[in-house]
Amino acid sequence: MSDTVRTFIAIELPPEVRAFLTECQERLNRAGGDVRWVRPDLIHLTLVFLGEVPADMLGDLEQAAREALAGFAPLELRVSGAGHFPPRGAPRVVWIGIEDLSGRLMAVQAALAKATGAFAEKVEDRAYTAHLTLGRVRSPKGARDLTGAVDAMSAHTGPTFSAGEVTIFKSELSPQGPAYTALGRISLGAPGIAR
Ligand code: ATP
Ligand code: MG
Repeated sequence: MSDTVRTFIAIELPPEVRAFLTECQERLNRAGGDVRWVRPDLIHLTLVFLGEVPADMLGDLEQAAREALAGFAPLELRVSGAGHFPPRGAPRVVWIGIEDLSGRLMAVQAALAKATGAFAEKVEDRAYTAHLTLGRVRSPKGARDLTGAVDAMSAHTGPTFSAGEVTIFKSELSPQGPAYTALGRISLGAPGIAR
């Protein structure tokens, strides 16, 4: 059996966005609820989750991602809004939204998903929704207060930032939490025709 690597492709966040996410976590944490907050330095915008990819295919994966992104200019994004999954009923995930000021995030995501689908362990059949996972709910304790506080933040707007590159990550899960390692970075706005 060949070695595999748990892989995903994401946009890394600048420090001011991480600082904003930390404030959001502190605010929601005061509301109550039983949440395991994601360490802000580990929060990213996932574009495509591939799952276990054979290690000897990672080079081809990066090449496919590079070709898919050729010609895309950097993205202008804004942190905005908050919500939970599922949208009704007991919350499992608390997230902060991403507003696509450039209007090109979905095209970038779709191009990447199409180009890398052949390497995926399982292709995601749900529609893509851009979000930053702030925390995962551990138990129903205080869930009502938590959802109330999240809903109150639904119009809360954070920093605007430019995403100039996309990162292919290796994810290693452990009881101490996940560890992510960048396997490769692909610039947006490399010479060529911008779209
Ligand atoms: P943990 O699973 O220990 O809570 P994690 O979810 O951060 O940690 P991974 O499960 O390796 O780590 O996921 C890496 C990234 O991919 C995260 O942003 C996660 O939200 C996202 N992700 C994981 N599974 C899926 C999936 N099936 N569809 C879409 N995104 C996913
Ligand atoms: Mg996970």
